[in-house]
Formats: sequence, C-alpha cells, structure tokens
Amino acid sequence: MPITVVGSIAYDAVKTPFGERERMLGGAAVHFALAASFFEEVRVVGPVGEDFGEAELDVMRRRGVDVSDVERIEGGKTFFWRGEYGWDLNSRETLDTQLGVFEGFQPKLSERSRESEVLFLANILPDLQLEVREQLPDARFVALDSMNLWIDIARDRLVKAIESVDCLILNDAELRQLTGKPNLVSAAREILGWKSSTAADSTTDGGTAGGDEGASATSRRGPSVIVAKQGEYGAALVTRESFFALPAYPMENVIDPTGAGDTFAGGFVGYIAAHPHEELTDELLRRAMAHGTALASFNVEEFGTERVERLTGEEITARVRELSEITRFSSAPAKLRA
Ligand code: AMP
Repeated sequence: MPITVVGSIAYDAVKTPFGERERMLGGAAVHFALAASFFEEVRVVGPVGEDFGEAELDVMRRRGVDVSDVERIEGGKTFFWRGEYGWDLNSRETLDTQLGVFEGFQPKLSERSRESEVLFLANILPDLQLEVREQLPDARFVALDSMNLWIDIARDRLVKAIESVDCLILNDAELRQLTGKPNLVSAAREILGWKSSTAADSTTDGGTAGGDEGASATSRRGPSVIVAKQGEYGAALVTRESFFALPAYPMENVIDPTGAGDTFAGGFVGYIAAHPHEELTDELLRRAMAHGTALASFNVEEFGTERVERLTGEEITARVRELSEITRFSSAPAKLRA
C-alpha cells in the first residue's frame, strides 16, 4: 500500500562528539521517506524554501520517493533545526528551531497523495498533521509521531491529532510527559483509551490490533497501537492486550543519532504497508518492530541521511536476521528452590 507522509523537510546543523555538520539534509519526513522507500512507494507532502537544493530532492528521488507534493515557497526559508548531543549520545539539546515555510503552510494534496492507504503524520505542527489527516479520511492505517516542543506549545491540538490515528510512535519520555504518568505502560494504556468524538473521524477504518472485533466503527476510533522509542535501549510496543520490546541493535560506532526515530518509523510503517493482506496482528507488529529497529541502526552509523542513502535491501535483511538471533532465548525452567 503506498504511503503518504507529511512532516518536516529540513536543513539540520548537528554536533556530536564525533564531528559536526553545519547544513545537512534532514527533517522527520525525509528520514521516514528514505527508510519506508525500501518497502513501498512513498509520497512526501510539505513545503521547502527557495534555499532548498535540487540535490537534496534528488536524494529522495533516487530512492523512488515521489516528491511532486513538495511545494517550493518563493522567498521562503526551509525549516531549520540545530541540535547538539552529549558525550554518550543519550542526551540531546535543541539549540534552534526555525519553522520557516511551515508557518501558515496550507497543504494541498494531489489526487495521488490522497489515494494512499497508509498515512504517516511525521513530527511537525499538530494543526498541519490534522489538516493532512482530514484529506485522507479513508486511509487504512494512520500513524503519528511528535515531540516535546508540540506537547509544550500545542498539547490540545496534538491530543486531537493522536485521537484521529491508529498508531502513536513517540519517545518514551514524551509519552510520560504527554500523559503525566511516570510509568510507561500506564501512559500507553491511557492513550489507548483516547477516542475521537467527531463524526468526520468515524468514517475511517482504524487498525484492529488488540482484538476489538465486534466493536462498532466509531468505538474503534483512537489509537490501538503505541510504540515507545527508547533510543539506544530500543523500542516497546503496547496494544490493549499485549506488550513487546526489542533492544536496539548493538552498535559500537554510533556517529549521529539524528533521525533514528523517524527512520525507525519508516521501517515500522513501511513493513506494515508492504503487507496489505495481513491483519494487524501482534505477529505482524513484531516483525515491523524488527524492521524499524534494523533501519534505525543503519541511520546512526553516519551523519544525517548519509548511510541510509547507500543502504541495500540485503543489508537490511541480514541485520533483521542478526537481531532475531540476538534476542532469541529459551524459557527452559531451572529447578527453583522453595
Ligand atoms: P529524531 O532524531 O528522529 O527525533 O528526528 C530528528 C529530525 O527531526 C531532524 O532531522 C529535524 O530536522 C527534525 N525536527 C527537529 N525538531 C522538530 C520539530 N519541532 N518539528 C518537526 N521536526 C523537527
């Protein structure tokens, strides 16, 4: 199933203990699109400024990404983000965020982008995520990512956007911040109870993970899958009935984690999109988690999009296989003492 994605298309300035880049291609939609392009056709929606280069668009085109809904705004400036990582790469400070052309942007999706059966609302203003969601009311699977900035300044709109999707993919700490719950599983379970109340939202067929067969279309609204991204510790999956977690692929040389979360989302959502005839079961979600994890591990090997740009399908398959080896164990019981 083709995928439409809206989210930041950016220039990033990044400093890590291993080097820095003053102006590299970035943005949540870009990292997502490159990763998801290994599984399905991806259509990117969003604005760029006059300063955005053809070479950057070519990075996406080379992976077969459809960039015809990337709108160049005359006289505008491309979204810009500056971040710096701590010595162990676990902490990151945002030093600057300039929305540029995203301020006041009104998305007009082409017929083609509106036809996609899978929609990813990558990190960007919640209002923009909602506007795009409304233009794809019949998408079969809709996922959303966001971040602390939007929880801080646009929480109500973000909650509304989350209520309109099937799957929420968010950093562990942001899930806790969003719900005010210190425990990850309770935070996820709270969001699994959120429902959209508007009539327009009830026209969409949501995912059914969690086994709510028999529920009416309206009562199924709201997320049924929550993915908590945990950085170098991996990612956890929570549905109404189940829990699953995978560690990150163990890497000795992490150079730049920027975009790892979006790359994970690209692998996760891409894998689901590539299996249109399968129910959204825990089995499918677990395989999607493994593919997201594998993709993200490549992203951190080099700065920005550098590594994923020359990634191959064989490399992804091999890493998923290794991941399955690393996480395999037998539950053979020991003789336990009373
Ligand atoms: P990640 O490392 O997966 O959290 O994503 C990093 C990417 O998100 C960078 O390429 C940035 O351009 C982009 N980004 C940073 N802040 C924001 C924001 N507030 N809204 C949308 N995208 C952002």
